Amino acid sequence: SFSAEVVPQAPEDPLFGLMAAYRADQDPKKVDLGIGAYRDNNAKPWVLPVVKKADAILRDDPNLDHEYLPIAGLVPFKTKAADLILGADSPAIKEKRATTVQTISGTGAVHLGALFLARFWTGTKKVYLSNPTWANHNQIFSNVGIPIAQYPYFSKETKGLDFEGMKSAILGAEDRSVILLHACAHNPTGVDPTMDQWKELADIMRQKNHFPFFDCAYQGFASGKLAQDNAAIRYFVEQGFELVIAQSFAKNFGLYGERAGCFHAVTGPGAEAESTITRIASQLAILQRSEISNPPLYGARIASTVLNDSKLFAEWEDNLRTMSGRIITMRKELRAKLEELGTPGTWNHITDQIGMFSFTGLSEKQVLKIREDAHVYMTKNGRISMAGLNTNNIDYVAKAIDKVVR
Ligand code: PMP
Repeated sequence: SFSAEVVPQAPEDPLFGLMAAYRADQDPKKVDLGIGAYRDNNAKPWVLPVVKKADAILRDDPNLDHEYLPIAGLVPFKTKAADLILGADSPAIKEKRATTVQTISGTGAVHLGALFLARFWTGTKKVYLSNPTWANHNQIFSNVGIPIAQYPYFSKETKGLDFEGMKSAILGAEDRSVILLHACAHNPTGVDPTMDQWKELADIMRQKNHFPFFDCAYQGFASGKLAQDNAAIRYFVEQGFELVIAQSFAKNFGLYGERAGCFHAVTGPGAEAESTITRIASQLAILQRSEISNPPLYGARIASTVLNDSKLFAEWEDNLRTMSGRIITMRKELRAKLEELGTPGTWNHITDQIGMFSFTGLSEKQVLKIREDAHVYMTKNGRISMAGLNTNNIDYVAKAIDKVVR
């Protein structure tokens, strides 16, 4: 039977546990900096105006049905999703050596990629994850039996990239290892390599014949510029790498619960490329069929409506600038306030980091204390969601951080 030895009690998911603790807190001053979802200046979820429009267009359509999608997903959505992540002028698209499968958001894309590699990767079956990384990476790869190793990523001293540590670990990894890279707006640190550093990483990866696995959950959400946030991916593709990409539309469309995402596989250039990608696509379809049969419809329809209409697309870009702009403003203000208060330590990392999160450098002890004393909620590693800050609570949060650091 399912005794405790056989099925031990599993720990609660730390992030979802934090959310529950926040909800239970009755203090009116409480601040949620845990959740990785965009909030407007009133701490409320924000339905993108362009998403509202697309939704209205869809609901007005008398012929809208709820039939199954094809196994690999909604074709006009996938086509534009590939253009978006690879660049419409990508050599991989022109040379027909990219394939796309619509997935259950970014998580499903990472999973499908992991499953595919577990079956078909003939190199070193080990994935190198950044230390730290999005916690779910560990579980997703473990679940398909791919062993995990880590490369250093975050420097506690500079609160920036430990580039030397990262390079030497990737150089020291067994040839043909899988290297998972956050395409932009690294979660949880908010620290990204510069373009020159990406180029150096590409050189090392080429030398070692490593396999790049890009996870891109924040395109356009990080800098506000779609073509800036996928620059690393485009560079690797231009360099002729064979690689895969997990793409999420949760953050950049605010479609969190709709689970819209894609998995892309790209093969290197050459005479065999097109037939290779056709074979890869056929195997991905088999894996997808046994896991989910076919992906969810509605979020993909909304994103597709926007991506396929130039006017709506321009509005979307504007919405992206609203979200990223508000976050960047909050970064500047939080840093300025801490510096004004003379809070011990340096705070430039808050504006150097990018995307949804900032790795504050607060210790676990300080995190627990700020929760207890000020009702400010953040993950134990000191990560704050910048989207939880707004003009109403930023003074309060800065003072609470100041107090707990002293
Ligand atoms: N990868 C990373 C690095 C993320 O931060 C996230 C979102 N937290 C995801 C993947 C996937 O999110 P989703 O499944 O909601 O698209």
